[in-house]
Amino acid sequence: MSRQKAKMMKKCWMCGAAADSGEHKIKKSLLVALHGEGAYRRSNAVSHVKDGQVRSLQGPGSELIKYTNCLCSACNNHQSQPFDHAYDKFFQFVLRRENEIIDRRVIDFSDVYGEDFELGQRNLYKYLVKLFGCDLSSHDLPVPLDLRELLDKEHFRTRLFITFAVNEDKLLLRDVKDRSAGIGSLTYLPADAGVDDERSYAWSTYFSFLHIYFWYAMKPTGPLGSIWTANSRWIYLGWSRPLSIEQRKELEKSAAVLQRGRDHVPGESKGGEGQ
Ligand SMILES: [Zn+2]
Repeated sequence: MSRQKAKMMKKCWMCGAAADSGEHKIKKSLLVALHGEGAYRRSNAVSHVKDGQVRSLQGPGSELIKYTNCLCSACNNHQSQPFDHAYDKFFQFVLRRENEIIDRRVIDFSDVYGEDFELGQRNLYKYLVKLFGCDLSSHDLPVPLDLRELLDKEHFRTRLFITFAVNEDKLLLRDVKDRSAGIGSLTYLPADAGVDDERSYAWSTYFSFLHIYFWYAMKPTGPLGSIWTANSRWIYLGWSRPLSIEQRKELEKSAAVLQRGRDHVPGESKGGEGQ
Protein backbone atom coordinates (compact mmCIF):
# COMPACT_ATOMS: atom_id res chain seq x y z
CA MET A 1 0.00 0.00 0.00
CA SER A 2 1.32 3.44 -0.83
CA ARG A 3 2.21 5.81 1.96
CA GLN A 4 -0.37 8.26 0.66
CA LYS A 5 -3.12 5.67 0.78
CA ALA A 6 -2.15 4.51 4.27
CA LYS A 7 -2.35 8.11 5.43
CA MET A 8 -5.78 8.58 3.89
CA MET A 9 -7.12 5.55 5.67
CA LYS A 10 -5.96 6.58 9.11
CA LYS A 11 -8.43 5.98 11.91
CA CYS A 12 -9.30 8.05 14.95
CA TRP A 13 -7.47 6.34 17.82
CA MET A 14 -10.27 7.21 20.23
CA CYS A 15 -13.27 5.75 18.42
CA GLY A 16 -12.07 4.04 15.25
CA ALA A 17 -13.96 6.31 12.79
CA ALA A 18 -12.10 7.84 9.85
CA ALA A 19 -9.60 10.39 11.18
CA ASP A 20 -10.16 13.78 9.56
CA SER A 21 -8.87 16.06 12.28
CA GLY A 22 -5.40 17.00 13.45
CA GLU A 23 -4.11 17.93 16.87
CA HIS A 24 -1.54 20.57 17.73
CA LYS A 25 1.66 19.16 19.18
CA ILE A 26 2.03 22.43 21.03
CA LYS A 27 -1.39 23.86 21.82
CA LYS A 28 -2.21 26.93 19.77
CA SER A 29 -3.40 28.86 22.82
CA LEU A 30 -0.11 28.08 24.58
CA LEU A 31 1.90 29.43 21.66
CA VAL A 32 -0.25 32.56 21.66
CA ALA A 33 0.39 32.98 25.41
CA LEU A 34 4.14 32.58 24.85
CA HIS A 35 4.61 34.46 21.58
CA GLY A 36 1.42 36.34 20.73
CA GLU A 37 -1.08 35.86 17.91
CA GLY A 38 1.49 36.13 15.10
CA ALA A 39 2.37 36.35 12.34
CA TYR A 40 5.82 35.49 13.67
CA ARG A 41 8.12 37.76 11.74
CA ARG A 42 11.10 40.06 12.23
CA SER A 43 11.45 40.98 15.90
CA ASN A 44 8.77 38.45 16.78
CA ALA A 45 10.25 35.58 14.74
CA VAL A 46 9.83 32.10 16.21
CA SER A 47 12.01 29.16 15.21
CA HIS A 48 10.86 25.60 14.82
CA VAL A 49 13.54 22.97 15.38
CA LYS A 50 13.03 19.33 14.52
CA ASP A 51 15.75 16.71 14.17
CA GLY A 52 18.32 19.50 14.08
CA GLN A 53 16.56 21.30 11.23
CA VAL A 54 15.63 24.91 11.92
CA ARG A 55 12.67 26.50 10.15
CA SER A 56 10.71 29.59 10.90
CA LEU A 57 7.24 29.24 12.31
CA GLN A 58 4.69 31.47 10.57
CA GLY A 59 2.09 31.53 13.33
CA PRO A 60 0.55 29.57 16.22
CA GLY A 61 -1.66 27.48 13.90
CA SER A 62 1.18 26.27 11.68
CA GLU A 63 0.89 22.81 10.10
CA LEU A 64 4.51 22.23 11.09
CA ILE A 65 3.45 21.55 14.65
CA LYS A 66 0.41 19.37 14.03
CA TYR A 67 -0.28 15.68 14.24
CA THR A 68 -2.23 15.21 11.04
CA ASN A 69 -5.35 13.07 10.99
CA CYS A 70 -5.05 11.37 14.35
CA LEU A 71 -8.65 11.94 15.47
CA CYS A 72 -12.13 12.34 14.01
CA SER A 73 -13.68 15.79 14.37
CA ALA A 74 -16.36 14.55 16.81
CA CYS A 75 -13.76 13.27 19.26
CA ASN A 76 -11.46 16.22 18.77
CA ASN A 77 -14.08 18.92 19.07
CA HIS A 78 -16.85 17.76 21.36
CA GLN A 79 -15.65 15.00 23.58
CA SER A 80 -12.29 16.47 24.37
CA GLN A 81 -13.12 20.16 24.65
CA PRO A 82 -13.23 20.13 28.48
CA PHE A 83 -9.78 18.52 28.42
CA ASP A 84 -8.42 21.32 26.22
CA HIS A 85 -9.89 23.93 28.55
CA ALA A 86 -8.33 22.26 31.58
CA TYR A 87 -4.92 22.45 29.92
CA ASP A 88 -5.44 26.12 29.03
CA LYS A 89 -6.17 26.92 32.67
CA PHE A 90 -3.18 24.89 33.79
CA PHE A 91 -0.54 26.50 31.57
CA GLN A 92 -1.96 29.99 32.21
CA PHE A 93 -1.60 29.33 35.93
CA VAL A 94 1.95 28.00 35.56
CA LEU A 95 3.05 31.01 33.49
CA ARG A 96 1.33 33.46 35.84
CA ARG A 97 2.66 31.92 39.07
CA GLU A 98 6.05 30.89 37.72
CA ASN A 99 8.19 32.26 40.57
CA GLU A 100 6.05 30.77 43.30
CA ILE A 101 5.96 27.35 41.61
CA ILE A 102 9.71 27.32 41.10
CA ASP A 103 10.28 28.21 44.76
CA ARG A 104 7.77 25.81 46.28
CA ARG A 105 7.96 22.98 43.74
CA VAL A 106 4.34 22.09 44.30
CA ILE A 107 1.13 22.88 42.44
CA ASP A 108 -2.18 22.84 44.29
CA PHE A 109 -4.92 22.10 41.75
CA SER A 110 -7.42 24.01 43.87
CA ASP A 111 -5.39 27.13 43.05
CA VAL A 112 -5.72 26.27 39.35
CA TYR A 113 -9.32 25.06 39.15
CA GLY A 114 -10.93 26.34 42.35
CA GLU A 115 -13.57 24.15 44.02
CA ASP A 116 -13.82 21.96 40.93
CA PHE A 117 -10.20 20.88 41.22
CA GLU A 118 -11.08 17.18 41.29
CA LEU A 119 -12.72 17.41 37.86
CA GLY A 120 -10.15 19.93 36.60
CA GLN A 121 -7.14 17.75 37.34
CA ARG A 122 -8.89 14.74 35.78
CA ASN A 123 -9.58 16.70 32.60
CA LEU A 124 -5.98 17.89 32.55
CA TYR A 125 -4.86 14.28 32.76
CA LYS A 126 -7.19 13.40 29.89
CA TYR A 127 -5.78 16.23 27.76
CA LEU A 128 -2.31 14.80 28.31
CA VAL A 129 -3.62 11.34 27.39
CA LYS A 130 -5.07 12.86 24.21
CA LEU A 131 -1.73 14.41 23.29
CA PHE A 132 0.17 11.23 24.09
CA GLY A 133 -2.30 9.12 22.09
CA CYS A 134 -1.84 11.40 19.07
CA ASP A 135 1.92 11.08 19.36
CA LEU A 136 1.73 7.28 19.49
CA SER A 137 -0.71 7.31 16.59
CA SER A 138 1.62 9.53 14.55
CA HIS A 139 4.29 6.83 14.96
CA ASP A 140 1.75 4.21 13.86
CA LEU A 141 1.89 2.70 17.32
CA PRO A 142 -1.25 1.34 18.99
CA VAL A 143 -2.72 3.44 21.79
CA PRO A 144 -3.07 1.15 24.83
CA LEU A 145 -6.61 0.07 25.66
CA ASP A 146 -6.70 1.55 29.17
CA LEU A 147 -5.97 5.00 27.74
CA ARG A 148 -8.66 4.69 25.09
CA GLU A 149 -11.18 3.56 27.69
CA LEU A 150 -10.57 6.10 30.43
CA LEU A 151 -11.53 9.22 28.46
CA ASP A 152 -15.24 9.09 29.32
CA LYS A 153 -14.79 7.68 32.80
CA GLU A 154 -14.85 9.30 36.20
CA HIS A 155 -13.03 6.46 37.92
CA PHE A 156 -10.38 4.47 36.16
CA ARG A 157 -7.22 2.48 36.57
CA THR A 158 -4.35 3.35 34.30
CA ARG A 159 -0.80 2.32 33.58
CA LEU A 160 0.18 5.83 32.53
CA PHE A 161 2.19 7.65 35.19
CA ILE A 162 2.75 11.37 34.68
CA THR A 163 5.40 13.40 36.51
CA PHE A 164 6.34 17.08 36.40
CA ALA A 165 9.81 18.56 36.79
CA VAL A 166 11.52 21.92 36.73
CA ASN A 167 14.28 22.12 34.13
CA GLU A 168 16.86 23.90 36.28
CA ASP A 169 19.07 24.74 33.30
CA LYS A 170 16.29 27.00 32.10
CA LEU A 171 16.29 28.88 35.40
CA LEU A 172 19.66 30.32 34.40
CA LEU A 173 17.66 32.27 31.85
CA ARG A 174 14.90 33.05 34.31
CA ASP A 175 15.17 36.82 34.04
CA VAL A 176 15.19 36.58 30.28
CA LYS A 177 12.00 34.42 30.22
CA ASP A 178 12.37 31.17 28.42
CA ARG A 179 9.57 30.92 25.89
CA SER A 180 10.38 27.59 24.33
CA ALA A 181 7.86 24.80 24.09
CA GLY A 182 7.97 21.41 22.48
CA ILE A 183 7.79 17.66 22.69
CA GLY A 184 10.48 15.11 23.46
CA SER A 185 11.31 12.00 21.49
CA LEU A 186 9.35 8.83 22.09
CA THR A 187 11.13 5.77 23.37
CA TYR A 188 9.53 2.39 23.66
CA LEU A 189 10.38 -1.18 24.43
CA PRO A 190 8.36 -4.34 24.68
CA ALA A 191 6.81 -4.50 28.15
CA ASP A 192 6.35 -8.20 27.86
CA ALA A 193 8.22 -10.06 25.17
CA GLY A 194 5.44 -12.66 25.13
CA VAL A 195 2.76 -10.14 24.16
CA ASP A 196 3.15 -8.66 20.70
CA ASP A 197 1.33 -5.38 21.00
CA GLU A 198 2.20 -4.49 24.57
CA ARG A 199 4.99 -2.01 24.99
CA SER A 200 6.18 0.44 27.57
CA TYR A 201 6.70 4.03 26.52
CA ALA A 202 8.54 7.09 27.82
CA TRP A 203 7.79 10.51 26.40
CA SER A 204 7.72 14.18 27.39
CA THR A 205 6.39 17.59 26.54
CA TYR A 206 7.43 20.95 27.92
CA PHE A 207 6.87 24.68 27.99
CA SER A 208 9.03 27.31 29.63
CA PHE A 209 10.70 25.71 32.70
CA LEU A 210 8.12 22.95 33.17
CA HIS A 211 8.68 19.49 31.73
CA ILE A 212 5.91 16.90 31.79
CA TYR A 213 7.01 13.26 31.60
CA PHE A 214 4.91 10.32 30.48
CA TRP A 215 5.71 6.80 31.66
CA TYR A 216 3.51 4.08 30.29
CA ALA A 217 3.88 0.60 31.81
CA MET A 218 7.16 1.60 33.36
CA LYS A 219 8.35 3.22 36.55
CA PRO A 220 9.74 6.75 36.38
CA THR A 221 13.50 6.92 36.67
CA GLY A 222 15.33 9.86 38.20
CA PRO A 223 14.19 12.74 40.41
CA LEU A 224 11.51 13.82 37.94
CA GLY A 225 8.62 14.38 40.33
CA SER A 226 5.95 12.42 42.16
CA ILE A 227 3.70 10.06 40.23
CA TRP A 228 0.30 11.45 39.28
CA THR A 229 -2.56 9.51 37.71
CA ALA A 230 -5.32 12.13 38.08
CA ASN A 231 -5.61 11.05 41.70
CA SER A 232 -4.34 13.98 43.72
CA ARG A 233 -5.03 17.60 44.62
CA TRP A 234 -1.31 18.35 44.65
CA ILE A 235 1.54 17.54 42.33
CA TYR A 236 5.12 17.64 43.56
CA LEU A 237 7.68 18.77 41.04
CA GLY A 238 11.04 17.10 40.55
CA TRP A 239 14.01 18.56 38.75
CA SER A 240 16.34 17.92 35.85
CA ARG A 241 19.59 19.45 34.62
CA PRO A 242 20.16 18.09 31.12
CA LEU A 243 23.22 20.27 30.44
CA SER A 244 26.76 19.30 31.40
CA ILE A 245 28.67 21.46 33.93
CA GLU A 246 30.60 23.10 31.05
CA GLN A 247 27.41 23.82 29.11
CA ARG A 248 25.82 25.35 32.20
CA LYS A 249 28.82 27.65 32.64
CA GLU A 250 28.52 28.77 29.02
CA LEU A 251 24.82 29.39 29.46
CA GLU A 252 25.43 31.35 32.67
CA LYS A 253 27.81 33.61 30.76
CA SER A 254 25.39 34.20 27.91
CA ALA A 255 22.52 34.75 30.38
CA ALA A 256 24.62 37.48 32.00
CA VAL A 257 25.20 39.09 28.59
CA LEU A 258 21.50 38.88 27.78
CA GLN A 259 20.70 40.40 31.15
CA ARG A 260 23.03 43.34 30.49
CA GLY A 261 21.51 43.72 27.03
CA ARG A 262 18.02 43.76 28.46
CA ASP A 263 18.81 46.46 30.99
CA HIS A 264 20.57 48.51 28.37
CA VAL A 265 18.67 51.65 27.46
CA PRO A 266 18.51 52.14 23.69
CA GLY A 267 19.98 55.45 22.55
CA GLU A 268 22.47 55.62 25.40
CA SER A 269 24.86 53.13 23.93
CA LYS A 270 27.81 55.37 23.20
CA GLY A 271 29.69 54.57 26.39
CA GLY A 272 29.64 50.89 25.51
CA GLU A 273 29.44 48.01 27.92
CA GLY A 274 31.54 47.70 31.03
CA GLN A 275 31.84 51.43 31.60
ZN1 LIG B 1 -13.21 9.63 17.00
